[in-house]
Amino acid sequence: MSTETRTSIVWDYAPAPESSDHIRLNDRYGVFIDGEFRDPASGRYVPTINPATEQPIAEVADGGPDDVIAAVEAARSAYPKWAALKDLERAKYLFRIARLIQERSRELAVVETMDGGKPLRESRDVDIPLAAAHFFYYAGWADKLRYGVAAREVAPLGVVGQIVPWNFPLLMAAWKLAPALACGNVAILKPAETTPLTALLLAEICQEAELPPGVVSILPGNGDTGAALVRQNKIDKIAFTGSTAVGRDIQAALAGTNTRLTLELGGKSANIVFEDAALDQAVEGIVNGIFFNQGHVCCAGSRLLIQESVREEVIAKLWRRMGLLRVGDPMDKNTDVGAINSAEQLERIETLVAAGEDEGASRRTIECELPARGYWFAPTLFTDVSPAHRIAVEEIFGPVVSVLTFRTQAEAIERANNSRYGLAAGIWTDKGAKAFEVASALNAGVVWQNTYNHFDPTAAFGGYKESGFGREGGPAGLRPYLRVIR
Ligand code: NAD
Repeated sequence: MSTETRTSIVWDYAPAPESSDHIRLNDRYGVFIDGEFRDPASGRYVPTINPATEQPIAEVADGGPDDVIAAVEAARSAYPKWAALKDLERAKYLFRIARLIQERSRELAVVETMDGGKPLRESRDVDIPLAAAHFFYYAGWADKLRYGVAAREVAPLGVVGQIVPWNFPLLMAAWKLAPALACGNVAILKPAETTPLTALLLAEICQEAELPPGVVSILPGNGDTGAALVRQNKIDKIAFTGSTAVGRDIQAALAGTNTRLTLELGGKSANIVFEDAALDQAVEGIVNGIFFNQGHVCCAGSRLLIQESVREEVIAKLWRRMGLLRVGDPMDKNTDVGAINSAEQLERIETLVAAGEDEGASRRTIECELPARGYWFAPTLFTDVSPAHRIAVEEIFGPVVSVLTFRTQAEAIERANNSRYGLAAGIWTDKGAKAFEVASALNAGVVWQNTYNHFDPTAAFGGYKESGFGREGGPAGLRPYLRVIR
């Protein structure tokens, strides 16, 4: 074969679909209260849909106010014994849950992908291992709590209500449950309406771990279920992760009550590329920052700030790299960008992208074949964006990046901070001192240097401004679940 012929071979990926034969899903899941699954008080079940196929996967209870009351009663009666348990005994349950997540990791990854649309590669390599890691990490803290809070005497809060979104269903449940339980609280978790399944499998894991009944309740349902949980006045703390609009509603509902609150909300994070950065590496970080999990990431690097001197070069490299992204069946192990989580979310993305075009930004969307059914949006790049455009201001929560430019370091900082959000930021530079200087001037809870979307249970995560308050992860993640006694 001549060199010419050899180099003209078009390389492609063979399909590499993960099997779903090994998963054990029931046709129906009730609410999980007092250590057992039961029918919801209303008797209502709703299907949960695979967003990549639009096919129903299972029926899930629609929890209501009466279920909230039952869960709170079960939690209240479980609390004294759980809080009084020796610290090391509590830790044993958390270690057990962590190990069971590991044992069932393949099944959990497949279910997460089927229910939410994210690529299997991500649920397998990121979501599920990190969920286990959070339980391991906080299990280790259970007998060292006072050292996590500056050597003060601490006590648990009591019953905590926890509400999570659909973008990292099991991982967000782990972020919430692991520190709460380690600190001696009991918890009622409400998963998001489009992705309840892995939380319900976690309920099974709690049973397998022989966690005492009532220590964890799982209440699937919609926004009304969450609102009922928030307004249940026998709860000591609400921990919420979701949109800023709902966070605002929750804060208003709890104003003037004794219920504590932490809010992890939206973001419009700046990913800043300086001219001295390793640009190929930065492009990988830009791609990971915005196309990971279809951009359904609260800290997504959705505002790309490029120094003007390297603007053309970075955009050219980024566009070339975007063309290599594989969009499609999330169950295929080669897929980079999976399905949009729901029809509603797809509509939200389309509306904002249309606004970007209407306001005069230049849109480029990669060409790719999208499956006939399901909810899809191909990776998209906007240039000629002004800081006032909606696509530069509002959270799109999809695979869409808006490029802005800057000339000087001071301008980069000013532009990055010009947002009502303050969740995360990325800095790409070869100069360590510059990175520290810029990081300390940014109003962002998390700042990554020469990397992006890097998560670890030992590191605190949370926002400023309309991105919320309170921290999850690391020793800081213990504080929202403890009272300081003296
Ligand atoms: P959402 O606010 O619509 O819903 C989040 C959860 O709140 C769901 O379980 C929902 O059923 C429940 N809910 C809805 N209305 C409620 C109400 N009135 N009272 C109580 N609960 C209610 O958000 P979403 O669309 O599911 O998730 C996307 C949002 O979450 C994005 O804005 C994203 O940035 C944010 N998010 C933030 C973080 C973080 O750590 N800061 C992490 C992930 C997602």
